[in-house]
Amino acid sequence: MADISPPEVTWDGIHTVDDESFASDNVCIVTGAASGIGRAVSLVAAANGLTVVATDRDETRLEGTVDRGAELDVSGTIKPVVGDLTEDTDIENIVSEAATVGDIKYLANVAGVQHIDSIEEFPMETYDMIHQVMLRAPLYLSKLCIPHFKETADGKGCVGNMCSIHGHYVTSDKVAYNVSKFGLRGLTQSIAAEGDGEIRSFSVSTGYVQTPLVTNQLEDTAEQRGITVEEVIEDVMLGQSRVSEMMKPVEVANLFLIGFSKLGNQLVGGDLLFDGGMTLTYE
Ligand code: NAD
Repeated sequence: MADISPPEVTWDGIHTVDDESFASDNVCIVTGAASGIGRAVSLVAAANGLTVVATDRDETRLEGTVDRGAELDVSGTIKPVVGDLTEDTDIENIVSEAATVGDIKYLANVAGVQHIDSIEEFPMETYDMIHQVMLRAPLYLSKLCIPHFKETADGKGCVGNMCSIHGHYVTSDKVAYNVSKFGLRGLTQSIAAEGDGEIRSFSVSTGYVQTPLVTNQLEDTAEQRGITVEEVIEDVMLGQSRVSEMMKPVEVANLFLIGFSKLGNQLVGGDLLFDGGMTLTYE
């Protein structure tokens, strides 16, 4: 069986970009920063010299992100801010805390949750919670950050949104996730439309990445489909990919930093589809 346990971020996976905006005066807010992709984006942003405001509702594991930054001896500071993205007051606090440590220039909306149930069985309160975390919070954070972007010396800023292949096509029994990811691409393009190339936005769409979100859904998916956990990994998660290894969180994080950097200058509303060919090829 393929080993898909979540790997630690190490320096050999981190990509740095030479960019004058990647400096300690500039702040990158990262949501979902206690785990998986959000932790990796926080570490790679700090390794690129940015001051990172790392936010999550999981205080203990958020401290783990700060500790990992210290172990890696990244040049940027990682400031943890605990918050629940279903609470507007917490969202407002995240942005006001970020404004105290520098100029807010980048926002990475990464936090997400999964729930597996058919449409007929799907609990509406879970649907609403997923919508709040994965669609409403990215919009509200963007709304609050854009005025800060405009206040910076060059008036520029960028929002990166963690999307998915589920923002391009769908798998069954994940309706709230699917709808949120499709919507997130709409938000990405809306920010880009209003930003006139100065405030940019992009999304990142990957297939399955080695994080707790994936490992935690193996048993539910197996039960829902009446197959084994091994079959979920080999057939459902990797079956349509031309690349036999699952993506690692640090590889996704590197894409965020490339998108934020001057290399992403023409990346205005676009989606970085790094999915091993899952959505664009067919057996
Ligand atoms: P993860 O479970 O490892 O991390 C998600 C983080 O979001 C957790 O730390 C969790 O505490 C936080 N979070 C959830 N609800 C929150 C709330 N209400 N307030 C504050 N924080 C909250 O998951 P991951 O795999 O790193 O996923 C991160 C993002 O990447 C998600 O948006 C997910 O949809 C997306 N994604 C993941 C994969 C994958 O295969 N892992 C693939 C494509 C897209």
